[in-house]
Amino acid sequence: MKKIIVLLAIAAIGLGSCKKDNSPAPDKNASVKDMAGCLGYATGYSNSGTIGPANTFDFKIAQNNQFFAGEVTNQRNFWLGIPAEVHVLYEPTADYKNAYASPDGSILFGYQMFYYLVNSFSKLPNTNTLSPLPVDGVLAHEWGHRVQFTVGWNDYAQPSERELEADFFSGYYMGLAKQWLWGQIKTYYSAIYASGDYYYNSPQHHGTPQQRLNAAYAGLTTAVYELNNNVHYTYAQLHAIFRSKLPSEISVMHGEQFAEVSYPRHLTKESVQRLFPRI
Ligand SMILES: [Zn+2]
Repeated sequence: MKKIIVLLAIAAIGLGSCKKDNSPAPDKNASVKDMAGCLGYATGYSNSGTIGPANTFDFKIAQNNQFFAGEVTNQRNFWLGIPAEVHVLYEPTADYKNAYASPDGSILFGYQMFYYLVNSFSKLPNTNTLSPLPVDGVLAHEWGHRVQFTVGWNDYAQPSERELEADFFSGYYMGLAKQWLWGQIKTYYSAIYASGDYYYNSPQHHGTPQQRLNAAYAGLTTAVYELNNNVHYTYAQLHAIFRSKLPSEISVMHGEQFAEVSYPRHLTKESVQRLFPRI
């Protein structure tokens, strides 16, 4: 039932540098900024990379460009009232792979990050087919930050709550927009969260891998509840649901106690779209 768009792997290292042939070489004297965290992007540093044009995506393979453009359109249609200009960020090296969201309306999705996700986490079992799922999930996490900025919440006791809520929104998107089962997405989420790099490596900033998995699961089950009960949440209601689940379901250790979710049998495109979140 699920339509898998096949992505193509690429040797990102090396090809990535082609992009900057017409750019000045990084200034060896320019300082390197620690941009750990997907809200910490800054320009003008030797590790800042080059930002591509808004809403035109060049991942060097037409099929991948088409996939990413399609997914940006999907998410733009999903996150109603939450504007985002999406750019490819050409990181200087794979060491700086990342994705970022900013208060001024941008999402920067790293070229190295894209191929890192595709090459590392996308293999479907027993095939050489690559799934778009990890890219979708990371883009939804960043769009979740755009929701936070646009609606303007500031009731976070610590930075990790902001990150866990972005994970909650990512799981929510995977459930409501795509109706993935937990068993289908858990592998990707747990692999990415456990990987110890990307922006997932600081428990103070981003929560532990277990908390992040809990947050994604809480988002997914919120979407499933909505589909099964035909309720329609605003962003403020979703924020309240996240806050209510934070001390219990999200902050505690779950172990492997995640029950599989179950979707209504007869969902139409229209019935799902009517439930997309609203301001
Ligand atoms: Zn984040």
